[in-house]
Amino acid sequence: MLQSVQTLLGDVCTMEYASKCDLNHTAPREAFNAMAQNGWLGLIAPESFGGAAGSPTDLALLLEETGHHFEELGLWLFRNFTYGCYAVLKHGTEEQKQRIVPRTAKGELSFAFALSEPDSGSDAAALRTRAFADGDGFIINGRKQWTSGMDISDYVLLALRTNDLGKKQLGISTFLVDTKLPGIEVRKIPTLGQHAIGTTEVTFTDVWVSNTAVLGQLDHGWAVCEDTLRYERLCLSAVRIGAARRAFEYALDYAKTRHQFGKPIGSFQVTQHKFADMKVMLDTSFTMIRRYAWLMENGKAERADTAVIKYYIGESYKTIADMCLQILGGYGYSMEYPMQRFFRDSRLATIGGGTSEIQKNIIAATLGL
Ligand SMILES: Cc1cc2nc3c(=O)[nH]c(=O)nc-3n(C[C@H](O)[C@H](O)[C@H](O)COP(=O)(O)OP(=O)(O)OC[C@H]3O[C@@H](n4cnc5c(N)ncnc54)[C@H](O)[C@@H]3O)c2cc1C
Repeated sequence: MLQSVQTLLGDVCTMEYASKCDLNHTAPREAFNAMAQNGWLGLIAPESFGGAAGSPTDLALLLEETGHHFEELGLWLFRNFTYGCYAVLKHGTEEQKQRIVPRTAKGELSFAFALSEPDSGSDAAALRTRAFADGDGFIINGRKQWTSGMDISDYVLLALRTNDLGKKQLGISTFLVDTKLPGIEVRKIPTLGQHAIGTTEVTFTDVWVSNTAVLGQLDHGWAVCEDTLRYERLCLSAVRIGAARRAFEYALDYAKTRHQFGKPIGSFQVTQHKFADMKVMLDTSFTMIRRYAWLMENGKAERADTAVIKYYIGESYKTIADMCLQILGGYGYSMEYPMQRFFRDSRLATIGGGTSEIQKNIIAATLGL
């Protein structure tokens, strides 16, 4: 499997292609389409839905390799796997599964996830976007912040409030909403990195959706969000550690060929120690992902396990990208070399999908302190 995806991505998603998408702010559509045509978008869907029934380990391997070629392509794929396949298969009705999963598996549909709002980020359950019942559907009003890929998506998995039941986690529902409905306005948010696809602010003004948009049980969507976030954190970690490996390899080549004081800069012990530290972070991260995927496959993954990989791999990617930039010296800082992209993109790894501080809170909460 790995060999074939490596060959494909080596052809359709080179470093130059990734740099061009980043520079021009264009989604890597050609590479996405090539992945779809070769069947990779169906990796985790059951065979009856046109997929390959792959395991979390298979998915982690695919996303690591995709992230290794281009992080934003990996993130696009992860959103489709997580929201368009995993969430629908786990929480959807038969009608939703039949309508959505086969087309997602072919790469015909793309997905975004709208949980965060201007006033609710880490405290996500404090969200205020609201849906009121209206005939055989709902009317939605509110604003979402940081909805990545909304402008290239067909559906958004939208977390909103449908009831006030005391505790803030109650009365939340998850809807699968067509992104092109009247009343939906999308504004791109300029960001430090993630320039190819990036993120958006989305406003919902009297958007009508039918009852068939509800994913999972009405008023109990927080469970869907939590479950989906766990899956998301496996995927995000796999994509990001793949990207970290690419930055590492680039810097390693550079350290072998760049000469100063008559020697390769890789011969200086201070540089060697940086590579040793990065190698330990990479090996640890890959082992952690394998372990977590195994736990998922055996129904043993706990909330804290996901937080451990999200925290460790997010911080490792940020550190590795920073070290690699330092190894390239001025060329690391130059916009004419690719390392700055890893540095900019990696900065999100400790923020998006739940900050490092929140992951530490989740881990600590299980220790009986
Ligand atoms: C580029 C980008 C893409 C994103 N994509 C998506 C997406 O597709 N969908 C989506 O729903 N969201 C998305 N997000 C949102 C992301 O998940 C949030 O930014 C993140 O959860 C943090 O929320 P916040 O930015 O509101 O920060 P805040 O919650 O305001 O936190 C600010 C700081 O305070 C710290 N803090 C907050 N509470 C605590 C606490 N209890 N203990 C310790 N420290 C705390 C945080 O760790 C952080 O350092 C994206 C964000 C960005 C920047």
